[in-house]
Amino acid sequence: RPAPPSPYLEGLNAEQRQAVEALDGAVLVLAGAGTGKTRVLTTRLAHILATGRARPWEILAVTFTNKAAREMKERVGKIIGEAVEGVPWMGTFHSVSAQILRRHAELVGLKSAFTIIDTDDQLRLMKQIIQAEGIDEKRWTPRHLASVIDGWKNRGLMPEQLGEEDKYAFAEGRGKDLYAMYQARLKVLNCCDFGDLLLHTLHILKDNPDVLAEYHRKFRYLLVDEYQDTNVAQYMWLRLLAKGTGNLCCVGDDDQSIYGWRGAEVDNILRFDKDFPGATVVRLERNYRSTEHILGAASGLISANRDRLGKTLWTDEEGGEKVQVRGLWDGEAEARFVAEECENWVSAGRSYADIAILVRASWQMRAFEERFIMLGLPYKVIGGPRFFERAEVRDAHAYLRLVRSPEDDLAFERIVNTPKRGIGETSVQKIAMLAREMGVPMTEATRIMVGTDEIRGKARTSLQVFLRDLARWRDLSETSPLNEMAEIILDESGYTAMWREDKTPQAAGRLENLKELVSSMAEWDTLEAYLEHVALVTDADRAVSEDEVSLMTLHGAKGLEFPHVFLPGWEETVFPSQRSLDEGGTKSLEEERRLAYVGITRARERATITFTANRMIYGRWQSVLPSRFIDELPHDHVEARSETGYYEGGGPGFENVRQTADPMASSYSSPGWKRYQASAQENRRTTPLTIDAKANLIESGPVGGGSGKWKTGDRVFHDKFGYGRIKTADGSKLTVAFDKAGVKKVVESFVRELP
Ligand code: ATP
Ligand code: MG
Repeated sequence: RPAPPSPYLEGLNAEQRQAVEALDGAVLVLAGAGTGKTRVLTTRLAHILATGRARPWEILAVTFTNKAAREMKERVGKIIGEAVEGVPWMGTFHSVSAQILRRHAELVGLKSAFTIIDTDDQLRLMKQIIQAEGIDEKRWTPRHLASVIDGWKNRGLMPEQLGEEDKYAFAEGRGKDLYAMYQARLKVLNCCDFGDLLLHTLHILKDNPDVLAEYHRKFRYLLVDEYQDTNVAQYMWLRLLAKGTGNLCCVGDDDQSIYGWRGAEVDNILRFDKDFPGATVVRLERNYRSTEHILGAASGLISANRDRLGKTLWTDEEGGEKVQVRGLWDGEAEARFVAEECENWVSAGRSYADIAILVRASWQMRAFEERFIMLGLPYKVIGGPRFFERAEVRDAHAYLRLVRSPEDDLAFERIVNTPKRGIGETSVQKIAMLAREMGVPMTEATRIMVGTDEIRGKARTSLQVFLRDLARWRDLSETSPLNEMAEIILDESGYTAMWREDKTPQAAGRLENLKELVSSMAEWDTLEAYLEHVALVTDADRAVSEDEVSLMTLHGAKGLEFPHVFLPGWEETVFPSQRSLDEGGTKSLEEERRLAYVGITRARERATITFTANRMIYGRWQSVLPSRFIDELPHDHVEARSETGYYEGGGPGFENVRQTADPMASSYSSPGWKRYQASAQENRRTTPLTIDAKANLIESGPVGGGSGKWKTGDRVFHDKFGYGRIKTADGSKLTVAFDKAGVKKVVESFVRELP
């Protein structure tokens, strides 16, 4: 029986309609940029709801950013004409996984209130483990370990599943053990990192047939956008879930696979027919986004890649402007040119919001920002230092995290002495050591310690007050709205006062950020929901609502479209990047070329590519060559002009100087990296963990606590108080009569038994 006429289907072409209406079984839409893949997915979702095939909560829809999910919700609402109260299972792989994981956290040894940690915390943990293992952290950096472990997680591998070939990935074969320690430590802290969201969920579904069956019943339809960028773990995750009804629709474009460096496997697309025999494969060839010249330039460029399926693309939008290529003298001239063009665009009656500047690496943004600030042009950096990554915001979050889950040691360490409370590095070290030895959270270790003489004076009083405050705030969190609670905590802890008294120029801005943070929390009902949101927002999620130019990376621009797109820095070693050139071979170069293709195809009306002859890199001027990608653009679709006379016929005096510098190294000057270095320096000053403490990174059960092995009269030695004899033992606390120091209460693990 034919479905009732649906106006939302009418705007679609025949192939799009086929993809929307083929509701049963597996469907793959494999098509080039701007052909309406995302539109098909949205319409399909609307169609499923409109025809009553499923209710909103029976659909799982995976988008690449949370922003895309929001947009999809809106579009679906418009199509079916009523507010879709929510498609609760719509979001990124990470956010959907987080939802699933919260419901079954105990199956992987977590509590459902687990904290999702970010890169900063991840690196701090790695560092602690590397140090505890006595590994040279200069040679084997935490960053390196993090990328090795992320790589394993992207492939869906737990430590025990690592193969022989993975053995030498880090520190001469010790990577696997470090990975196991890291995972164990996360569990003790009731934390997980980004990769874990997927990995844990994957293993829950794999190891618990009843849970899997529950989701098979639940999800009647699965929809996935940007399928070409799924990694192995995501692919396995999807395949497991899709085994239920088999109603899986994926859309993607092999030419836009740009996350290979993060483990994405474009082969997932090529394998689709094999995994889902009888799958309907739909190809879309009509591009609705760009003009003929833009499409022609992009298609010509990507045809230089050998490793591709190849497809035809055409558009009705004849003519339009050719793609502009401009050679400029240096980065400053480039920024001046781009800013001027933006002003011209607006003088012609268009708006700033039409414009995007898409860079290869974030260091390129600075010159544009400076120019825009100078001219007073409105712009927004998408993916700059994110609001949630600022130190004051992270401090505030640490307070909230600790209030919510007392076992969050990372949060504890961050704020126990921020603002300064006279709790020194040694006290914190002692607490950390005790916590590890006993396998308890640092808050618990603190509680034990303050009842003894291990910590005295100011530190002891401060810690007592701190514990009392935490308990009070915890009560508060049950009764007060989130924003009020946050405000009270920041006030009572002295955190706000700390910045008010700070005389540095940044202090005022920090106070503003804290205010903004508090007011934004009013939107959320629970602390869990709020912190989850914070952990999962991505760069591209920042709203672009005002009339501002968007400045972002090419990677961040996937799926988006703008009337006017600037593509600066098309120079050898910038784009393609030095790294891709160093790696040699065609694989990473082809990925760079796909990135260029993504860049050009974001443009609807006008694309402007620029390159310079001179670049200041690491404070040194270097001559640079135009990108090979410029040569690969078909001449019919391009109009090139160069101020330097360099592009046409090669100018005098510029040789191809290959920089030794890594253009990606811009991240080294990011605030996150600087903070990381600062904390690294701080940590270097503190003593590494003892051998015993190390063992407890893996074994988390209490070790020796209240062991009853002590008898009155036992002879003991304590590092600080010297020799003494046990008077009484109470759990892990001992009262000892020291020969010199007198009677003290000490913690059992700091005492050595003497024969
Ligand atoms: P990308 O590969 O860049 O993600 P895409 O294939 O997902 O692109 P969409 O973003 O869905 O493409 O669509 C590109 C543009 O074309 C959008 O502005 C969309 O509204 C428009 N479009 C898609 N299909 C049609 C159609 N049948 N009629 C009119 N406009 C369409
Ligand atoms: Mg899309």
